[in-house]
Amino acid sequence: MRASIGSAQTPLARRRRLPGPPRDRVKARLLRLYLALARRFGPQAWWPGRTPYEIAAGAVLTQHTAWASAARAVAALRARRLLRAERVAATPAAALAGVIRAAGTPRLKARRLRALTRWLLDRFGGRLGAMRRLPLGRLRRELLGVPGLGPETADAILLYAAGRPVFVADAYARRVLARHRLLGRRATYEEARGFFEAHLPSDPALFNEFHALLVAVGKAHCRTVPRCEGCPLRFDLRGRRPAR
Ligand code: SF4
Repeated sequence: MRASIGSAQTPLARRRRLPGPPRDRVKARLLRLYLALARRFGPQAWWPGRTPYEIAAGAVLTQHTAWASAARAVAALRARRLLRAERVAATPAAALAGVIRAAGTPRLKARRLRALTRWLLDRFGGRLGAMRRLPLGRLRRELLGVPGLGPETADAILLYAAGRPVFVADAYARRVLARHRLLGRRATYEEARGFFEAHLPSDPALFNEFHALLVAVGKAHCRTVPRCEGCPLRFDLRGRRPAR
């Protein structure tokens, strides 16, 4: 996989060069978790995509769908030269749905992709680079106003397509935090996002890699039934069982 935003090696190297001890215990603990994951799984090179628009389109296509299926839909868009905002906007929803059917719920996702595309064209002339200059809170509120974009999709676009420092606190991340008693198991998406952002340096490259690594450990170990044996984060449980 290939990422077009940032370098997957950068945040790990940067953490190792921190001049002194982290300022608070939660921050230190989160960074230890991050480093343990980075050592085990290596650079994740998220998010695959040749352009910011392709990454944003992929964020819509992977909603409630495994990335492998979304990637087939992205490839189908590429094969028809439809990974450009102007061309998607000019394509009727029914035709677009036919192209992206590999991603599942194609009519719904075609509507959502067109809604996002219209917003990008109206607001930024289709140039996602302009999203780097707006105040983040206002930008996020506007993005959440696009039909069909929930917080996780909006934040994936902000982080991976626009390089803004927003943590994607998806189910994998929340599960690890809860099992390690860093957050309650009923913590909401926004609570978990706020937790990461409050305790970590506001660094898009770090957020990018940490989120990808949490997905990696979630798939390999922290499943519905946790497989703590052999998990790189087991040291943090300090002999306790994961919280239920
Ligand atoms: S599998 Fe166990 S050790 Fe690994 S992240 Fe989940 S709760 Fe922690």
